Amino acid sequence: MRDALLANDCDEMQGYLHTRIGRVMELRARVVTLAIGTDPKLRRMLTYWAATATLYALFVTLLAVESAAGMVPYHGVLGLGLYAALGASTFYALVRANAHLGLRPHTLATLQGLFGITCNMWAYSITGPLRGATLMGLMVVVVFCTFALRPRQTLLLAVCGLAGMGATMWWHQMRDPLHYPPRVEAVTFVIMAGCSLTVTFLTGEMNKLRARLKAKREIVEAALVTIRLLATTDELTSVSNRRHMNELLDAEQGPACVALIDIDFFKQINDRHGHAAGDAVLRAVAHRLRAGLRPGDALARWGGEEFLMLLPATSLVEAHAFVESLRAGMADLAVPGLDARLRVTFSAGLAARQDREPFSATVNRADKALYAAKAAGRDRVIGA
Ligand code: GH3
Ligand code: MG
Ligand code: MG
Repeated sequence: MRDALLANDCDEMQGYLHTRIGRVMELRARVVTLAIGTDPKLRRMLTYWAATATLYALFVTLLAVESAAGMVPYHGVLGLGLYAALGASTFYALVRANAHLGLRPHTLATLQGLFGITCNMWAYSITGPLRGATLMGLMVVVVFCTFALRPRQTLLLAVCGLAGMGATMWWHQMRDPLHYPPRVEAVTFVIMAGCSLTVTFLTGEMNKLRARLKAKREIVEAALVTIRLLATTDELTSVSNRRHMNELLDAEQGPACVALIDIDFFKQINDRHGHAAGDAVLRAVAHRLRAGLRPGDALARWGGEEFLMLLPATSLVEAHAFVESLRAGMADLAVPGLDARLRVTFSAGLAARQDREPFSATVNRADKALYAAKAAGRDRVIGA
């Protein structure tokens, strides 16, 4: 009795926990959607933004630590911290709202790059002896921008960065040569310029490689679409080919009927009007049959002038009525380029799938029914 009560308590507890966890997960999903949206492209852009925002936060935190140790002026860190926070949140808002604003990716990236450069200039100016470390930020600006900018635009931005940093260094060594020795500043500048331009060049090359890979992938994807089309459609009539119909038959699990449709006296059409006319008749009949299909039905060119129709979830009586209506509809079939008085008819044999027999058995019975339809004078539908 006690065990039963305990088990009951446990079940209740589990149920309660499940509901709570479910609610928390739901809330989390909602917050994530609110913060970064659902569009994969937007999410990617916001991921880049988050990476740079983290870097800003890291810089400012380090500077705050240095400021606590008396190495960096407090007001400078506060100013830069506010500037970085304002900039980062503005860019978050711009990226998040860009679906409405419609700013081009390279405009956004350039603005972010320029902002990054000004942060770097500011950080360099207040960091004192550790200022050399802040120059790494310039590399991040370049790499960040290569995602959205063309190599030439990235180079221009890198040059802007160099000009900004160069001016900052120049100003400091002029104003305070004791703390900013001109030789040290000059060497630092040259190293920075070398690294920055090399990174620009290398990321540009990587971008070109990426663009080439993307173009190749698009070609391969288009080729796959074409291959799939070629593998599944009949070239002449554009309906499914026999191979594709076999796949569809293999995949069909439930009850179904098949109809084997054969154009009557087709050899005569070829003989009297030529092979090209015969082809036009095949196309016109296929087109007409396909237009008559119901959702879920399938049609394939099964052989020369034979078509196989798969009618899922259809009884033999329904299939008979349906194919009979298609047969009757052939009376007004006009074949482009052929005498309008030419009448094209077909004979059809139907069979219903018995239990879960292989479709080859069903098609065999439909073939026998087709033979019977031909023997009985053609232009008719017979069910097996
Ligand atoms: P039946 O009423 O008994 O079906 O007579 P039929 O003349 O339609 O049948 P038969 O099997 O004697 O002839 C079929 C012809 O279809 C023979 C073949 O040359 C022709 N054929 C097969 N494939 C094509 C094709 O792609 N284009 C053309 N124009 N003719 C084709
Ligand atoms: Mg025929
Ligand atoms: Mg035939």
